[in-house]
Amino acid sequence: MDIAVQTTPAVLILLGPPGAGKGTQARMLEEKFGLVQLSTGDLLRDAVARQTDAGMRAKAAMDSGGLVSDDIVIAILRDRLAQDDCAKGVILDGFPRTTVQAEALDTLLGETGQRINAAISLEVDDAAMVERVSGRYTCGGCGEGYHDSFKQPKTAGVCDKCGGSDFKRRADDNAETVGARLEAYHAQTAPLITYYDAKSALQRIDAMGDISAIAKGLAAIVEGATA
Ligand code: AMP
Repeated sequence: MDIAVQTTPAVLILLGPPGAGKGTQARMLEEKFGLVQLSTGDLLRDAVARQTDAGMRAKAAMDSGGLVSDDIVIAILRDRLAQDDCAKGVILDGFPRTTVQAEALDTLLGETGQRINAAISLEVDDAAMVERVSGRYTCGGCGEGYHDSFKQPKTAGVCDKCGGSDFKRRADDNAETVGARLEAYHAQTAPLITYYDAKSALQRIDAMGDISAIAKGLAAIVEGATA
């Protein structure tokens, strides 16, 4: 289904700690609604792999599980948002992560007459996050996400989506770094729940259950927020 009736492109934000399922759910929403998933983590990993100036500056913070500086992330996001495909509407996955970023996003959207349709908080228990994050991996071909315990490919070693057999794990998905990433979430990102609540843009969803049940709940929120 395309959200074509809306006059300005939809802007949805997924908030939640590492392992909450933001990436998985963003991909599902992307398919269902024809929106574009923008993951600042993916954009930064790409910048690191290409050894761009921003990538070189971001690498140390990413390796340690800390946040990359606001100026780097805001510049990367601003450039990506200016690309044509974002006119379909976007799901922000992993941005904003600080109040400075949230304010910068408000300014950027204001310049193009856009607004945030909803900031959706994926509510999870911290205790489950380390296991969720340490067991996950993705298909190197199409990016489909899997998990050692919760979501194995139907045929072992073969991606359900594209048939590829090259899987990869993120370097920062290990128990030590996950602890630092959770700390960064609580100290710097969780305050955004209050920030968006104050703007009446906040929606909450219990993200501890089954992936498809959460997807259903999220789809209903997105339909309501973009109607
Ligand atoms: P993610 O893929 O969203 O888990 O992000 C991986 C890493 O990239 C994080 O642990 C941070 O180091 C960095 N990162 C991603 N998005 C942001 C952001 N909005 N602000 C600061 N750092 C970020």
